Amino acid sequence: MRHDQIYMDYNATQPVKPAVRDAMIEILAAPTNASSIHRLGQRARGHVEHARADVAALIGAKPAEILFTSGATEANATVLRGTGLDRVLVSAIEHPSIRNAADNPLVVPVNRDGVIDLAALDRMLAEIGEPALVSLMLANNETGVIQPVAEAAAIAHAHRGLLHSDAPQAVGRIPVDVRALNVDLLTLSAHKMGGPQGAGALYVRDGLTLSPLLKGGGQEMRRRAGTENVAAIAGFGVAARLAAEDPGFGARMAELRDRMEARLVAIAPDIAVHGGNVARLGNTSCFGAPGLLAETALIALDLAGIAVSSGSACSSGAVELSPVLLAMGVPETAAREEIRVSLGWMTGQADIDHLVESWATIWSKARR
Ligand code: PMP
Repeated sequence: MRHDQIYMDYNATQPVKPAVRDAMIEILAAPTNASSIHRLGQRARGHVEHARADVAALIGAKPAEILFTSGATEANATVLRGTGLDRVLVSAIEHPSIRNAADNPLVVPVNRDGVIDLAALDRMLAEIGEPALVSLMLANNETGVIQPVAEAAAIAHAHRGLLHSDAPQAVGRIPVDVRALNVDLLTLSAHKMGGPQGAGALYVRDGLTLSPLLKGGGQEMRRRAGTENVAAIAGFGVAARLAAEDPGFGARMAELRDRMEARLVAIAPDIAVHGGNVARLGNTSCFGAPGLLAETALIALDLAGIAVSSGSACSSGAVELSPVLLAMGVPETAAREEIRVSLGWMTGQADIDHLVESWATIWSKARR
């Protein structure tokens, strides 16, 4: 499978894995309403339940704890609207589907490495004095920085609250176990792990009731109305199984990424690697070199046949200052220089070589 660019923007979305595509194409050949009684309906139901088991297994959940949605954005909205808790606390680096969707959230600061301030979380919950919902992502989409979710869950629970983790960037790249994390709710998205767009899931801890965001039919055990996107859900299941079968993926990506960063630093010693001092996803590199604007670098890399991004490319496609970096205390000038390179299942050493060589050329031109 070839694309007309070297794709290094896996945190935005990923190429669909061939086995996922094959499974989906086969399913799309027949009508698939998983609620129908007839044999075709039962077959569709089988695809959905099979996928539920595979997605559950990937995160150490029970199948009944998995609710399928149209993606992470819907799963996050379901959490924000559905718990019955009025007060919501979010970290300062959450994705817009949390940050812009929560009603008047209290924002918990992060430190310079982009890690949540747990003491501030504890203090803020104590001040509220009533059970609250805390939403803390597991890994940041821009820097890859991994958050202390288990510790945050312990704090939220000590204040009788709930902990939700938005985890689409983490699942499939680092081991995720909902019991070890002790989260109440966790969001996944298929297209961040080689599955299709338009499928996501919410882990809802056994015994927790959540009112549905989409009301109507009785699908998903009355938790999410609407005919299931059977082919996409089945593709999600295949992607989850493939991820479970490849536990070494994150370490492989980290090896490529670390070699790349070492070479970039050798070329430009004053390069800033955001989040580089703390635990982060192996596939993600967020960096900037003084004097080289992100948009200049992006366009030049694009012309060199390499697709990367800057800030969060998830919504508008426009280059705007990254709220994540600003929350980390990165000065505006440095934030303007940030580019994000994110690797994935098709990335090889030759791609890294091409990126480093292209970037070196762009850098030396910018300095002249
Ligand atoms: N949360 C995070 C951390 C993300 O990176 C994204 C996708 N950029 C989302 C939520 C939204 O995911 P979806 O596209 O599945 O709605």
